[in-house]
Order: sequence, then structure tokens, then C-alpha cells
Amino acid sequence: MADESQGVLYVVGTPIGNLEDLSARAQRTLATVDLVAAEDTRHTRGLLSNIGLKQTLIVYQQHNESRQTERLIDVLAEGKSVALVSDAGTPLISDPGLTLVAAALDAGIEVVGIPGPSALVTALSISGLPAERFIFEGFLPRRAAARRSHLETLRHEPRTMVFYEAVHRVVDTVADLKAIFGSDRRIALARELTKLHESLESGTLAQIAARLGDDIPLKGEFVLVVAGASEAAGGDVAEATRVFEILHAELPATSAAKLTAKITGISRNEVYRLTRACAD
Ligand code: SAM
Repeated sequence: MADESQGVLYVVGTPIGNLEDLSARAQRTLATVDLVAAEDTRHTRGLLSNIGLKQTLIVYQQHNESRQTERLIDVLAEGKSVALVSDAGTPLISDPGLTLVAAALDAGIEVVGIPGPSALVTALSISGLPAERFIFEGFLPRRAAARRSHLETLRHEPRTMVFYEAVHRVVDTVADLKAIFGSDRRIALARELTKLHESLESGTLAQIAARLGDDIPLKGEFVLVVAGASEAAGGDVAEATRVFEILHAELPATSAAKLTAKITGISRNEVYRLTRACAD
């Protein structure tokens, strides 16, 4: 139960590129709170002045989350209300805010979400890929080896996968997706959503990899929505693993993999990868 003598923490979604996406409720909330906690105060001052507001701002960033959380919890405990915003989209979605929201809940402070845009949901909703169930992977590890080994763990993930990626890594990431998930897996690449040069490209990983940096410009912000492993492929994989295990009880790994490929129709490379994954 929230303690009503305390203020309310509003977690407010803001536009991801188009200022018209700031909802009427978000505007009203920002106008009535005592304090706005923002990732970049200059950026948020611009957003507020666009709707004629001059609220008091406090910086709340990843590197000062703990210190600012203490200050903001004190402010909330005095009965003042606070709006948490990030530079774009929904706070906490690959953005700061978790420390504050968790501390507020622990302190019995009411936390209210003011829903707004998020690149994740916007991209997913136009991807043409199943959205009943999906996983959000945020940003992949920056280092190539760590990124590839993380993608290996997702190779047989049956749900649609959503990734955020920085422009200078998108070519390498799509190349890794293609190498690990296979050339024929589908991807929807959303770029500059809600902005002037918004685009959505969909196709196989091989097709999109070939076009990136060519007719798909390497500019702006990207969301990658990738199809999950098909159920048929999942079934093949389970069967191949079963066959490999039986054969490997009698034969060396190389011969067992070779025979598994022949019996199940899965490529020998895929069996090798599979058996390595099983051994990990
Ligand atoms: N909190 C934000 C949200 O709710 O979407 C995400 C913030 S995260 C730091 C920034 C990443 O989100 C970008 O690198 C990009 O992957 C994605 N993103 C944000 N705005 C976008 C846009 N307009 N078009 C495409 N991707 C976007």
C-alpha cells in the first residue's frame, strides 16, 4: 500500500523523434509535478519549452543513479511529486530509472506509469513478425566475441527477438545474426522511427545484410526485429540432438555428427554447432 502523505513518482514516456507523440496526459503530468528527473536536462528542457513549460529539472543518469535516487526519495517523502523521463521513449527500457523505481516501491511511494512511445513496441508492431510472444534483448554486448556467444544462446529461441543497435555496430551485428541464425531467417529493420527519414526494411538476413550501407543508409537509430527459430527447425534440432547422442555413445564425435547429418538432413555444420552447444 502506498503512503498518501508521500508524493507520487510518475514514469513518463516521451517521444522517440516526433514531438506530436507526447500524450496529453504526459503533458499534464509534466506540468503539475514539482520536479522532473531527466537523463539530459538540456534535451528535456527543449521538450518542456516546446509545450510552454519551465519545470525544475534534476539530472538522473546511469552514473549518478544511486546518489540521485537518495535525493529524489527524500523529495518524494516530503510529499512532492516527481516525473522521471529519459531522452527518448519509455524510461527503464534500455534507459536509467530502475534504481529509483525500485527504491520508491520499497519506500511505499506510489509509482504511476504514464505510457508513451517506445522504439521496441513501435518496431515490433510494424515488423510483420509474430508479436503475441517476443523477447526484448536490448543492446547486444559490444565486443564481437561476447556478442556472438550471446547470439549462440538465442539460436533456437522460438519467439520473435527485438534488439537495439547503435549505427556504428549495425553492420557487424546483422552479419553475426546471419552467420548464427542462418541467411534465410527473416528480419525487420526499423530506422529513424517517427522521424522524417523513417524507414522499415524487411527481408531475409542475407538480403538485409547485402543492402545495409548500400540502399539502406548507415544513419540514425535502428531497431532489429528478428524472427524466432521456426518450430519445424526446433523439431529437427531436437531430433538431431537425440540421434547424435545415440551415435556418439558408440562413435567418435566427428563420425557421429556426419551420420546425424545424413540421417536427419540437417547440415553437418549445424550438427557440429549443435553438439558444441550441447557440450558447453
Ligand atoms: N527508452 C527508449 C525506448 O523506449 O525505446 C530506448 C532508449 S535506448 C538508449 C536508444 C535506442 O533505442 C537506440 O539506439 C535505438 O536502437 C532505439 N531507438 C530509439 N529511438 C529510435 C527511433 N526513433 N528509431 C529507431 N530506433 C530507435
